[in-house]
Amino acid sequence: MENGRKAICPFCCLQDGLRVEGGGFAPLFGEDSLLHLDYDSTQEVNQGSLCSRGNSVIEFLEHPQRLLAPSFRGKEIGWEEAHRVMKSKLGKGISVLLGPNLTLEEAWLAKELVNSSGLNRIAHLAPDDGEAFQVLRWLGKVGGPGMEEIERSDLILLVGDTFMEHPVISRRVLRAKYAERKNRLLVLDSVKTKTAWFADLHLQPRPGTEGFVLAGLAKVLYKSKPSYLAPLFKKVNLERIAEITGLEKGKIEGASSQLASARQGVVILSNLWGRVGPVGLAAFFGSLLASLSNGKFLHLPVYQNGFGISLILGKRTTGPLLLEMIQKEGAGGLFVVGLDLLSSLPGQRKDIGLKKLDHLWATAIFPNRTTEISELVLPAASGLEKGGNLLYLNGDLREMNTVLPPPGGAEAEGEIFQKMAKDRLASPDEAKLREAVRGEPYPEKEIAQRAQALWEEEIGKGTEDRLPFYLIPSAHPAHLGNGAITGRLGWAKKVCAEPHIELSPVMASKLKLEAGDRAVVSSQVGKETFAVLLNERLKEDQVTVPAHFPQVRRLFPWEVGKTLGEFSLRPQRVKIAKSKGE
Ligand code: SF4
Repeated sequence: MENGRKAICPFCCLQDGLRVEGGGFAPLFGEDSLLHLDYDSTQEVNQGSLCSRGNSVIEFLEHPQRLLAPSFRGKEIGWEEAHRVMKSKLGKGISVLLGPNLTLEEAWLAKELVNSSGLNRIAHLAPDDGEAFQVLRWLGKVGGPGMEEIERSDLILLVGDTFMEHPVISRRVLRAKYAERKNRLLVLDSVKTKTAWFADLHLQPRPGTEGFVLAGLAKVLYKSKPSYLAPLFKKVNLERIAEITGLEKGKIEGASSQLASARQGVVILSNLWGRVGPVGLAAFFGSLLASLSNGKFLHLPVYQNGFGISLILGKRTTGPLLLEMIQKEGAGGLFVVGLDLLSSLPGQRKDIGLKKLDHLWATAIFPNRTTEISELVLPAASGLEKGGNLLYLNGDLREMNTVLPPPGGAEAEGEIFQKMAKDRLASPDEAKLREAVRGEPYPEKEIAQRAQALWEEEIGKGTEDRLPFYLIPSAHPAHLGNGAITGRLGWAKKVCAEPHIELSPVMASKLKLEAGDRAVVSSQVGKETFAVLLNERLKEDQVTVPAHFPQVRRLFPWEVGKTLGEFSLRPQRVKIAKSKGE
């Protein structure tokens, strides 16, 4: 028998269903007062399955380190005082930066708040997926195949380490693969990952060149339609792609013909922290490849509602460009909503100039590196403690129930925005939300121009440099995104409390390193020391590192792409040396 209140896992984009029982709605010392988790096999999304993150939901909700009261300059204050502070500054150069954990309604209210205070400075920050969101907006591509459709596919192409990033989808993908002997699973990833173990064909290009492989696959299938992309495909040269990716032309052609002969193919793209290289390029050609082979495309963003928030904000400045503007101006203020900004960024700019701002405010569920330097800190409700809609992967709205009240003085961000505007913001109804996330393609001419600019920008970058190893971001299934939330959870602490590098035993022996040693990894922008683990599936020039930690992200340069205005992340060339004990 199914018990409890239906809820949605607050972590990744799969939005798996679960049930919680007991907790806030029960008498304090009654038998039901203990909150617990129940599986929900009636959920068509996940049929009861949860990964280790989903299984930690109760620990997350009841965590003793949750923020419970607002504070100003380190001193606890009441909400009235917090709103008095905010109201006195609103409209005086305060920009708003949204994280990924808001509902669609909350993103809408944030936009209204900024509009009504006479500013147009609001952006969404999604370092892992921002480029893909921009490209999918050009194409008007909202929504991919549902889980049932994935299960009925006879060919699935996974781009990235999908099973590690979004573990529960593995069940659907593997059911599809094993449903019939002729069904095929293709994996495109530079590393022989646990996802790639299951591949009938593993395309293993140079790290960070997956988007170019997708361009090559699409080039083989492109005949003359859509005609507005003909000038772009003239520039996509298979010999050059073979050179960049290290994959033979024949292998690319062979994989294309498998896609072309599929009855119902699906291309699924997942990307953590630049693992697959320029993810905008991968999203563009992945989506195109799916339509050229009469298949479907599914992008799996890292977080639960990132794409929905991006669609609600529409054509506005991007998170990285907003941060660069603020840094340049060096004044005004920033309101960071539901995001540990300082744990999310690449590069070595320590506090990225935030300390110099006149005002820095942050909402958060836990104390974090951003709240540490914020003047005003507001405790936020989690996804299970606020109602609202999310954008689901198939392009539909998905309603989230409030299953228990927020603890202490925590509040939903939507309520905070409303109070800031003295309850004058008009909440969107379902029709307005549907319209906002519907996805309207840009004019064909504009898509063609943008796509060519992106292609030229990316192909002009080259892939070689003098440092011997590729540092490839990897996903640890107990963690999510920047690790700011999962780093608090017991299981994640037990299995991956701090980052480590993995390298091949052959290379480790050449470097005189053994498992458990510490090694210094130097990139073009910095160096960090990590524990060493051995992984015999890695090539000699490959080093992987879980991207859920700020010290890992510091090794990647702060680079904002010209065409997309988002962080341009990719595997980095590095050198490695045994630590001398620092
Ligand atoms: S895969 Fe894990 S984190 Fe993602 S929604 Fe499912 S249970 Fe939650």
